[in-house]
Amino acid sequence: MEERPWTLERFVCALLEHAGGAAEEVEPGVRDALGAGSAPWPRPGEVGRMVFDPEALPEHPDAAPVFFGSPRADDFLEAGKALAPAARAWRADLHPAVHDLKARVRRALSAPETSIEVGPGRARYDALALFLFRVSYLGEEREEELFAAGVDLALGRPHRTVGDWVDSGGWSDRRPLALPDGPMIPLGRALASAWKEIEPHAVSGLRARESDARRRAAVEVARLREYFDESLTELDARRAEAPPVEAASWDERRRATTAERDRRAAEAEARARVRLSAEPVSVLLACVPRIAAGFRLRGKIAVSAPVTVLFDAASHSVLPPDCPACGRPTLEWRLIPPPVGAALGTEATATCPACAGLAQETRERRVGKRRG
Ligand SMILES: [Zn+2]
Repeated sequence: MEERPWTLERFVCALLEHAGGAAEEVEPGVRDALGAGSAPWPRPGEVGRMVFDPEALPEHPDAAPVFFGSPRADDFLEAGKALAPAARAWRADLHPAVHDLKARVRRALSAPETSIEVGPGRARYDALALFLFRVSYLGEEREEELFAAGVDLALGRPHRTVGDWVDSGGWSDRRPLALPDGPMIPLGRALASAWKEIEPHAVSGLRARESDARRRAAVEVARLREYFDESLTELDARRAEAPPVEAASWDERRRATTAERDRRAAEAEARARVRLSAEPVSVLLACVPRIAAGFRLRGKIAVSAPVTVLFDAASHSVLPPDCPACGRPTLEWRLIPPPVGAALGTEATATCPACAGLAQETRERRVGKRRG
């Protein structure tokens, strides 16, 4: 059976083993964990069942689900963070002041038929986390690779250039300006998001090694078969010349040779298997100055609740905020008035055009029903 590339499972197993516990496979995607030391679950000495495959959950209703986003997975990722030594650096060569912040924000955002009201800006340090993972490929030989991935902890999304930034100068190990820290998503969640970035690369590294190993195994198996088939042909020739009384013993030798051939071919194929394991080895928090400002959309009759927008001093640009409805970053905004019949004082919302379109459809359907 093919090795599953589902590597949160490998991560959790590595963490349990690191803590002195164990994770025995019950069936693919289901493991019994023995708790120990700093492992977040189960308690030291206790055993708990973990399910990594959502499809296996109905058969193990009492087990703990461990998928990306489940509380148990978060616990493990948080514990993994404790293993990864954290360092912190501040970008010292940038100042967050920008004189035309409101105009810049208004220019960057687009919202037809509404005006954009930008509030005062507050400078702060936002942290970008650069995670380093050690990925091991365990086959006939052990190979290791290091992968890095950045996550913007303020926006909770991948940050693909933080690695390049860290290599450039301008960093200090002390806070250069007396600015407060911006909000951060939990590091465990960031670690999961970093791993999602790295996983496809690690899996393609695994696939490449698997196909090399399979190619080598195929050559070896072909050579084995050739060798054994020659022996079998020779055996058959000698059996044909031997007296009938020896037939049973020749048959026995033939069976033994065939079994030996199959055993050695199976061994060569087994050696072609490659497993993947990964662990976070370090995290660097790179703190960059930014300005946070709230903006609202004002229509003819409705005003939306404020959305925070960030001006990034490093890239000198306005970063697209997440749509509060779908969570996707967007620079295009639409005003959604409060639903018909909503309580007085209900605020309008500002969303991306796609979410505003959906809200509009729902509203038209409701109005249609009321009329019909
Ligand atoms: Zn949206």
